[in-house]
Amino acid sequence: MSVVARTRSAVSPLRRPFFAYPVRRPTVDQVVAADRPEEPVHCLRPTVIADTASDFVQAFPGDVLYAVKCNPDPGVLRALHDGGVRHFDCASLPEIRLVRDMFPDAAIHFMHPIKARGAIREAWDRHDVRDFVLDSADELAKIRTEIAATGIPGALGLIVRIALPKGGAKLDLSGKFGACFDDAVDLLRAARGCAATLGVSFHVGSQCLDPLAWRDAIALTGQVIRVAGVAVDVIDVGGGFPVAYPDQDPPPLGAFFAEIESSFDALGLPGVRLWAEPGRALVAAGTSVVVQVQARRGDALYVNDGVYGSLADAGALGFRYPVRLIRPDAEAAADTTAFSLFGPTCDSADVMRGPFLLPADVAEGDWIEVGQLGAYGACLRTAFNGFDRARIVEVGDNPMGDTPVYQAESQQAA
Ligand SMILES: *Cc1c(COP(=O)(O)O)cnc(C)c1O
Repeated sequence: MSVVARTRSAVSPLRRPFFAYPVRRPTVDQVVAADRPEEPVHCLRPTVIADTASDFVQAFPGDVLYAVKCNPDPGVLRALHDGGVRHFDCASLPEIRLVRDMFPDAAIHFMHPIKARGAIREAWDRHDVRDFVLDSADELAKIRTEIAATGIPGALGLIVRIALPKGGAKLDLSGKFGACFDDAVDLLRAARGCAATLGVSFHVGSQCLDPLAWRDAIALTGQVIRVAGVAVDVIDVGGGFPVAYPDQDPPPLGAFFAEIESSFDALGLPGVRLWAEPGRALVAAGTSVVVQVQARRGDALYVNDGVYGSLADAGALGFRYPVRLIRPDAEAAADTTAFSLFGPTCDSADVMRGPFLLPADVAEGDWIEVGQLGAYGACLRTAFNGFDRARIVEVGDNPMGDTPVYQAESQQAA
């Protein structure tokens, strides 16, 4: 029996990182033909991630902080590092510990506006974290108290996150975090006195297709800074940079960077540094998941991964991912049918409506590769109903679906 993939259990990357060399195969088709997997297979493309990161880091006019929550797989983090990412946006201690274990010299920024007190202390005194985001006076007091309690000196960075009006992003983030205008002004003034680095951040919402969202947010940032009347060192334009899905065709990333640069220049704040916190745009194309069809009923396919696995966003949020049939032993029909997918758990909410276009003769035993799942895919997996096992393998073939910054010519040869 050939072993082509290792296994791991749900939500493991942050708890039990694996550092052994993963199994590598030239193509996804070879993985399926050799292994005929009955468990979902996560197909990681480190070269794609490294190339995408390298393009982003070179094109963005400032520092690039990878938002670790989007995909904390150590293989992904290593590929990002290979691509030149040296800053990491973490939101929890397990994320901070993982990044610090892997990259002793990386800059880690604690970008969750609401932090546990112990997390602030451990981040500061054990992991050299110096930058903290906040959106309230309570959090400012908390950060100051806990850092003082460690007794360890250091140059504190404070980033005030401002609230934005609800925008056009696929995933709106406006309701949960962010200081309103007047509070942000007060916070900047209060924080200036104790911060070696002072900044303002925002998040336009995830998968935001409109470059003008950044222009409006940067203009608002400029007004807050002007009214506060204090010098700032950083403007952090957050994440939200989009990727292509079958029903979404965003402008190229260059259009977003041009809008960011020109609105930033218009503020006339020399000496201020730009930061960005991309997640999705760096890693979406870097992983696909191969699922197997276990039953077909009409136009519904019962597959072995679902909304409690790596297809969470295809459920309630209705994301459509690129799909492709893999049938090693026979030809597929030339005509296509629009299918919906059911996941493996007994919950009737475990359904992905799609529609997903596949050859009309899909049958039990076939495999389907689902692309663009590197962002908010495997990391959302649970162990619900016992369907937590997945395999992971590294492949060298081209990803499915187009991504704005991916350069085909730099793809690793199989
Ligand atoms: C989730 C998140 C990001 C990454 O967002 P993407 O849409 O994946 O780019 C960046 N910053 C913060 C604060 C976040 O919560």
